[in-house]
Amino acid sequence: MGKIVKLDKLIIERIAAGEVVERPASVVKELIENSIDAEASTIRVELSDAGLKKIRVIDNGVGMDKDDAVKALERYTTSKIKSLEDLYCIKTLGFRGEALASIAAVSRLEIVTRTQNSEIGTRVVAEGGVIKIVEPIGAPIGTTVTVYDLFFNAPARLKFLKSRTVELSHSVDIVTKYALIFPDISFELSNDGTQLISSPQADNILEKIVHIYGTEIARNMIQIDVVSDNLHLYGYVSKPSVTRSTKKAMHVYVNKRFVISNLFHNAILDGYRSMFFRGRYPICVLNLEIDPNEIDVNVHPTKLEVKFKDENKVFHFISEAIREALLSEELEPEVDVERIAEIETSPQTGIQPTQANITRSEQPPVPISSQITPSKPLVQTTLEKTILSIEEISRLTQQYKIPWNIVGQVAKLFIIAYDDENMYIIDQHAAHERILYEKLLSEYESGEIKKQTLLEPILVSFPIREALILKDNLDMLNKLGFEIAPFGEDSFVIRAVPVIMKKVANMNDLKEFLDELLELEGVKRRKIPSVHEIFALMACKAAIKDNDVLDADMMANLIKEMHSVPKDPYHCPHGRPTILAIPLKKLRRLFKRTA
Ligand code: ADP
Ligand code: MG
Repeated sequence: MGKIVKLDKLIIERIAAGEVVERPASVVKELIENSIDAEASTIRVELSDAGLKKIRVIDNGVGMDKDDAVKALERYTTSKIKSLEDLYCIKTLGFRGEALASIAAVSRLEIVTRTQNSEIGTRVVAEGGVIKIVEPIGAPIGTTVTVYDLFFNAPARLKFLKSRTVELSHSVDIVTKYALIFPDISFELSNDGTQLISSPQADNILEKIVHIYGTEIARNMIQIDVVSDNLHLYGYVSKPSVTRSTKKAMHVYVNKRFVISNLFHNAILDGYRSMFFRGRYPICVLNLEIDPNEIDVNVHPTKLEVKFKDENKVFHFISEAIREALLSEELEPEVDVERIAEIETSPQTGIQPTQANITRSEQPPVPISSQITPSKPLVQTTLEKTILSIEEISRLTQQYKIPWNIVGQVAKLFIIAYDDENMYIIDQHAAHERILYEKLLSEYESGEIKKQTLLEPILVSFPIREALILKDNLDMLNKLGFEIAPFGEDSFVIRAVPVIMKKVANMNDLKEFLDELLELEGVKRRKIPSVHEIFALMACKAAIKDNDVLDADMMANLIKEMHSVPKDPYHCPHGRPTILAIPLKKLRRLFKRTA
């Protein structure tokens, strides 16, 4: 006797259901997609007990007649495709014709629906995939699907569910995603009667961003709308100053279907490269319109994944679109002058304007630093060097042809300058880092990083494990302007360094550089860190430090070079700001001057 038997239809249904319906949020997703496909303009989602007791999706779409309402519950029944060719040009969100059947298989499901052409609606009730009731019923135009007791007959599934909060958050996520990308549809979500999302119809995606993320975030979004070569990318991305620690707020869609796509995410991050810290992610809502022929969405039962035929083209298109938009924006970090004013006038610091006035008439002004940290002795800085005379200022502007007047250096870290429009505060280390990073990058892109041969080779040693990892990375370093070779088991000999690093070409600094290189996450995982990461580190090591006293010419040089940084000089390679530009207009307003 053979061992193979044909599975019972209900078992097949149950197995198939498992692929589509993983948790309450999967049901929410499929039902919303059906409502969107049915051209609804209002979609309301009502949950009880995070969707475990009840998931109801109410739409005002085209509805179904009686026959369709019954057929819809069978597997592989769909109104959306008819032939194999259709599969390659899918315009709707659904097409597999299995969502309703799958949901019905693991719940008690009710459909109430009516089309415009019919006076009376239809009610269909199914339990565990078996239709129990089909009857006429009075109903508004549109469809209401209610899913009771999800997984009542699949206890194993129930066990895999997370806490109610987690399950609910998944549903919130789904509704959020669709609300953002379909501005002309009104979305609502509630759980146990509590309204969680209310996103009325809007004119554009930005308004939806206001509904979901609030005005403050919305104000910091940059619009993207780029068409090229049959691709159209549109939506919004956050300025580099607004980031999150997870990718959760990176909403990406292909033909308005939200997808999980590493390629898409990485392309976006590539567009932001060096504008913020590693491990930070932007907020974005981006839809890629692409010829359905150029993608395959049929790779995953829940249609979450998408395959692009020409991955390279898509990657570069997205990355460049983002990059251009970001670079064309004024990315100088906005100084919240009002906040500064608040701090300065708050009683804790003891420098309320009125009090300051009295002080001024009676005794010499007390340096602010001594008031904030009274216990620390005031460090004697080389004032004659750091605050420039009028003659010096004009000599520098002429000699270096820089558009800013340099006032001087403060706290051995900040350079103060101004022009007709702004006052500038420059972080000398971050700014220099940015300059060096760009130099390295342009040398690299033009084919060769300039090297400096050392008079005496430098020997550095590492613990054996690190030495092994470093060995794997030698090729890379030798391509980037170093001449470094193994020297025995755990040591390396350095014969040349990139020219920009010649000032730090001593054993201690180079050892520190290599140590930090090894610390880069990528190296620990035995992956080779990216060129960008290595350059950022090299720039950091070679740059002017916090606490370096600069003379007039050094400051002028720095500012001159900053003005030649081709792209975004306002951020260091790690994404920190390099310059704060305070509009003089703002300062005037702050000092309550009207003109
Ligand atoms: P698919 O969406 O892949 O076609 P479903 O099982 O989700 O498969 O739905 C089956 C069919 O039921 C759909 O093709 C559609 O014709 C119909 N349908 C489902 N939900 C709705 C709805 N909310 N309004 C109108 N028709 C619907
Ligand atoms: Mg569907």
